[in-house]
Amino acid sequence: MPAHDVLIIGAGLAGQRAALAAAQAGASVAIVSKVHPVRSHSVAAAGGINAAISVDDDWHSHAYDTVKGSDFLGDQDAIEIMCSEAPHEVMHLEHIGVTFHRNDKGELDLRAFGGASMKRTAYVADITGQAILHVLYEQLMKHHEQVERYEEWFVTSLLQDDSGRCCGVIARDVRSGRMEVLKAKNVILACGGAGQVYSPTTNALIVTGDGIAQAYRIGAPLMDMEMVQYHPTTLVENGILITEGARGEGATLLNSDGERFMEKYAPNKMELASRDVVSRAEQTEILEGRGVGPQKAGIYLDITKVPRKRTLEALREIVNIGKDFAGVDITREPIMIRPGAHYIMGGVKTDVNGATSVEGLYAAGEVACVSVHGGNRLGANSLLDTLIFGRRAGEHAAARATSMALPSASEARLGDDVAMIDAILARPRTGRRVSEIKGELGETMNKHVAVYRDEQGLQSAHEVVRRLKEEAKSAYVDDHGAVFNQDVLGAIELGYMLDCAEAIVVGAIERKESRGAQFRTDYPERNDEQWLKHIDITAGADGVGGVGGPRITYSPVTITQWQPEERKY
Ligand SMILES: Cc1cc2nc3c(=O)[nH]c(=O)nc-3n(C[C@H](O)[C@H](O)[C@H](O)COP(=O)(O)OP(=O)(O)OC[C@H]3O[C@@H](n4cnc5c(N)ncnc54)[C@H](O)[C@@H]3O)c2cc1C
Repeated sequence: MPAHDVLIIGAGLAGQRAALAAAQAGASVAIVSKVHPVRSHSVAAAGGINAAISVDDDWHSHAYDTVKGSDFLGDQDAIEIMCSEAPHEVMHLEHIGVTFHRNDKGELDLRAFGGASMKRTAYVADITGQAILHVLYEQLMKHHEQVERYEEWFVTSLLQDDSGRCCGVIARDVRSGRMEVLKAKNVILACGGAGQVYSPTTNALIVTGDGIAQAYRIGAPLMDMEMVQYHPTTLVENGILITEGARGEGATLLNSDGERFMEKYAPNKMELASRDVVSRAEQTEILEGRGVGPQKAGIYLDITKVPRKRTLEALREIVNIGKDFAGVDITREPIMIRPGAHYIMGGVKTDVNGATSVEGLYAAGEVACVSVHGGNRLGANSLLDTLIFGRRAGEHAAARATSMALPSASEARLGDDVAMIDAILARPRTGRRVSEIKGELGETMNKHVAVYRDEQGLQSAHEVVRRLKEEAKSAYVDDHGAVFNQDVLGAIELGYMLDCAEAIVVGAIERKESRGAQFRTDYPERNDEQWLKHIDITAGADGVGGVGGPRITYSPVTITQWQPEERKY
């Protein structure tokens, strides 16, 4: 049974940064990923990463923009840490080989992004995530003696010892179907978000909320789950992302009258207001009949204003996306977009070192909720979040490992997960297909738990989610083999997605106000008196499969220097 000081689930930016930090601190590290590390969703991040590195910028300004962007729900102590450590982290990336774009003077170039009071987004064309992920992977190779890589291994559960400490995981080698217990002194969840709960979504097929659900199932609270970000610019046909970098470079949004409607909603920041504000403005235009295209369901994003040479250099991926997925040459004509599900601000509740309430269990990156994004994340703050809190979790877990013995992990739980998978394989073809249930879940969430929400829609979504949870228990799979059986893993992922969906819906029903990404048409105002607080969701103790219905508690928002005020852009 392999054993490690620090075991990390997930090899996106948060996981790889945690692994590097833990290895550099002298720990023995294992990093597990259900896909090859450089295929993690972080590879798709396009627009860039925020840091106050310009001489006339200051991290306090970055922090204030982030607090305001969060609609005052973000915890200000965590935001201060993220923003003050950002310049050093970006310079570190540059020093280990990330080829950030430079300006004519040879300095790191910065582009404008939404909700920021000045240009502060460092970038590598529109492949920033890919550039950083590959450089971090090289660094892990350099530390290969300390970092064991379990590539294409799927974690099915977290292990706890008798006292409740997290002491490892159960994982399946996707290539062979073999199951193993991997023991560890500390486990860091870096499993990414839960975008696939929605359909369509900008997120890759692998982003199924595994870590959020696994932590929830062993009793860790989730926080801010109702806060799901709709990105203002996703393709109407299929939800593929067009980076905010486009608007950062000067692209505009137009309705069917050819009007730059953002003038009405955010006269100062226009297209570069925060994402919740822009998405709501677009959705209002569409609902009021000023959309474009079939069923007037879209808005025009006009990139032709940006000089063609600049677009081809700094936005080359979306030039390709426009051609390949919408048949549009964005350098010559506007492209049709609409708001689409993109990012989950909520996740496993942690402190500023990534520690969760379960001893030995850490979380960092999109799976976690520190909370630096509160009600709405600013574009290019997520890559930053993954790196800052990935590093801090790695360092902290490595330090903890030095002062403890390996906890005793029992092999008995392995049998439960083997039996769980055998039972899925043995299901008769009388139930529904996994993909059908997943499809209905995604459409329901996108209909009722989207940019605009109300009690009736949320209650009907909750009913559907509860029914789908029942149906998922008999959902059948077609592939009964051991080798690369993605079908059976899909059935397990469906369970994770349903747990996440339930937490999102329950949180959205609970929060009877409008703040950040949560806009309730039946409670259209922000209500600081009653709702300037986090909603924490914990699994009830009873119920089928050991997980009862969600239980709600509240925790205070940490305010250091910025008192809540009216939010205008
Ligand atoms: C299209 C797109 C563009 C974006 N652009 C930007 C941007 O420009 N700037 C920005 O700041 N943010 C951007 N974001 C958001 C940002 O990219 C993500 O929030 C961030 O990369 C998440 O990183 P992560 O390390 O937390 O998780 P991920 O990169 O999603 O990695 C998750 C890892 O967990 C592993 N994993 C999951 N479940 C299991 C399991 N059961 N067993 C084993 N392994 C598992 C996966 O294999 C993977 O390695 C973008 C997001 C998308 C979707």
